[in-house]
Amino acid sequence: MSDRSPDSVLKRAEAFAMELAPRAGDFDREERLPREVVERMADEGLLGATVPVEWGGLGLTPIEYGELTEIIGKACASTRALLTVHASLVAQTLAGRTSRRIKEKYLPDLARGRRIACFALSEADSGSDAGAEAGGMSTRYTRKGDVFLLNGRKKWISFAGIADVFLVFAVDNGVVSAFLVDRDMPGVETFPMSGMLGNRATHMAEIVLSDVEVPAENLVSGIGAGFAFVANTALFHGRYSIAWAGVALAQAALEEMCTYAVRRRQFGSRIGSFQLVQGMIADAVTSVSAARELCVRAGRLSAERSPDAIAATNIAKYFSSTAACRVTSNAVQVLGGNGCWNGYPAERLFREAKILEIIEGTSQVQETLIADFGLKTFSRKG
Ligand SMILES: Cc1cc2nc3c(=O)[nH]c(=O)nc-3n(C[C@H](O)[C@H](O)[C@H](O)COP(=O)(O)OP(=O)(O)OC[C@H]3O[C@@H](n4cnc5c(N)ncnc54)[C@H](O)[C@@H]3O)c2cc1C
Repeated sequence: MSDRSPDSVLKRAEAFAMELAPRAGDFDREERLPREVVERMADEGLLGATVPVEWGGLGLTPIEYGELTEIIGKACASTRALLTVHASLVAQTLAGRTSRRIKEKYLPDLARGRRIACFALSEADSGSDAGAEAGGMSTRYTRKGDVFLLNGRKKWISFAGIADVFLVFAVDNGVVSAFLVDRDMPGVETFPMSGMLGNRATHMAEIVLSDVEVPAENLVSGIGAGFAFVANTALFHGRYSIAWAGVALAQAALEEMCTYAVRRRQFGSRIGSFQLVQGMIADAVTSVSAARELCVRAGRLSAERSPDAIAATNIAKYFSSTAACRVTSNAVQVLGGNGCWNGYPAERLFREAKILEIIEGTSQVQETLIADFGLKTFSRKG
């Protein structure tokens, strides 16, 4: 990759996205992302988009990275998921307040896409409550001399089927810590999962850890920092990416419904001339525009390291993912029977949008966080 300036990166991403978009339906049907797509993401430097230049990344600003997420996410949700998982949840988190040793060992390879990373928090009985004291996390770690011994089973892990490095969360007597586990460590196994509603080409797998000996240097940010610091930081970055993913899907759905509405004729008129159809289009135009503005605001506050960035990101993720669900559902409605058929992208966009309301904190979890923020911020004192 030659020119690493943000303008040039985004232009090349646009060109790549044009090639990607017509293939997204095949990836979805085949439930796999071809290796060559992952390699192209790496060659273009996109897997290091969030990593500072000094560690081999592109060092994009949050807003530039958001634009990149929208470009790729509009073309293919599963390829965008690779950005969210690898670049936001893992690489960007490691590039933050972690030891120099961890950075030196992992960041240059992750930034260049020589190794692929995944994020392993969820389990069959541990989802929204992963970080809670009474949470159901059952993956355990114990200290044994110079190593930590990890045992347990992680579920729903995007890209676990192809990843080289797993950021794994485990618990010991209620204390959650995070570890970097390499695929080739003895005792690591993955079992592919299929049949998902969306994100079908993300090589989702379960990870089974049986007496995996993890060197103490692979503990990320110290004992007890697993949820309070590592997962929370990762989810902050991940939510920002998902917020832009919502803009991407809603924008794609808006273009589908408008293109269809100006061509399709019923009752002797274009369906775009019917006011009830126009209502759906008006809502889509407004929703996309509002969601994008919320994402830009969250990105700006992040760049300024403002304490308001966390609430702004939760708000953007919540609004954007719910808007994407509504807009993609309306795109299916405008396309009628064709909206329900995989000969058009609307049904896939609709399935992909629902995923955004589940991952990186469900919509209900976001509502809880936003309400907490609201109660603290907007209640009159005295
Ligand atoms: C496509 C896909 C990709 C994924 N990729 C990953 C990955 O890469 N890594 C990873 O670790 N995980 C991944 N996950 C898992 C995902 O993070 C969890 O599914 C999510 O956190 C929700 O957990 P759960 O499924 O256990 O649902 P639950 O937590 O059981 O929630 C079920 C319902 O209860 C509601 N609920 C739960 N608690 C509350 C509450 N306190 N207040 C109000 N409502 C509540 C939820 O909002 C939801 O509606 C993925 C999931 C999907 C679908």
